[in-house]
Amino acid sequence: MTARLISGTELSKQLRAEIAARTAALTAAGTQPGLAVILVGDDPASHVYVRNKVKACADAGIHSVLEQYEADLSEAALLARIEALNNDPSIHGILVQMPLPAHINAHKVIEAISTRKDVDGYSVLSAGELMAGLDGFRPCTPYGCMKLIESTGVDLKGKHAVVIGRSNTVGKPMALLLLQANATVTICHSGTPDLGVHTRQADVVVAATGRRNTLTADMVKPGAIVIDVGINRNEDGKLCGDVDFDGISQVASHITPVPGGVGPMTITMLLENTLQSAERVAAAN
Ligand code: NAP
Repeated sequence: MTARLISGTELSKQLRAEIAARTAALTAAGTQPGLAVILVGDDPASHVYVRNKVKACADAGIHSVLEQYEADLSEAALLARIEALNNDPSIHGILVQMPLPAHINAHKVIEAISTRKDVDGYSVLSAGELMAGLDGFRPCTPYGCMKLIESTGVDLKGKHAVVIGRSNTVGKPMALLLLQANATVTICHSGTPDLGVHTRQADVVVAATGRRNTLTADMVKPGAIVIDVGINRNEDGKLCGDVDFDGISQVASHITPVPGGVGPMTITMLLENTLQSAERVAAAN
């Protein structure tokens, strides 16, 4: 079998065109969606991520504000900025780029963002809403993975999905979204003794470990869908994911590439969450 590529780049193009159309309609009706992005310090990767997010907003017609601060910004000053943005009616989403400098308590910062504007979906309340099946913001990366799976046309009902990784931002919310879609879900982690025992039974595998070659062809059931969240570098310095793409392509029915898979979808779902936030505000007015 040669797997079909699930292109996050292509799906993102389609979804971003729909987001741009909805944004234009909402703006014409008097509410332009707005996203505030806060960057503290000079982490080079964070600068790239933030630039990409701001550009994606501009392309979709979403108003964005980029606030950049030196690494020695105090926690109190950052919390004060978040409070001001919570009260700014032109801002519907607030994103604080991680990681933050060590002297700032990231948990405290995330919890300071109003739940109505928590478009990353990282706060405890947003996590609780997801757990309870309520209508909150879904964390962008797992939300994007769900869209990639949906794009295959395969109904998850009754399927067995295995998530490798249990972080609060990817693995756990991913498992909850799969459960909401009526899959039977197994979560694996670094303490799972034999990963292959679980993944070989899976109709869908989502790998989110940050370790190259976590999943190899012998660990995949023929015809499975494989979603690769990982971002790693191989020995030549090239970007690669958590799964052995070439080997698994011979076994799986569908597979995402790295780059060009989950990465672009994460930004797309940030735009979607910001737009949904503005739509809720407009509907309430
Ligand atoms: P993380 O917080 O480091 O969590 C990694 C998870 O993988 C942990 O739960 C860990 O288990 C598990 N794990 C590690 N090695 C394993 C192994 N050999 N077998 C089974 N489980 C293993 O990472 P994360 O934030 O979830 O991110 C995961 C990867 O996705 C990273 O490469 C990150 O860069 C990437 N990522 C990509 C995007 C994107 O937009 N494309 C977005 C977010 C993250 P324990 O809990 O037992 O330690």
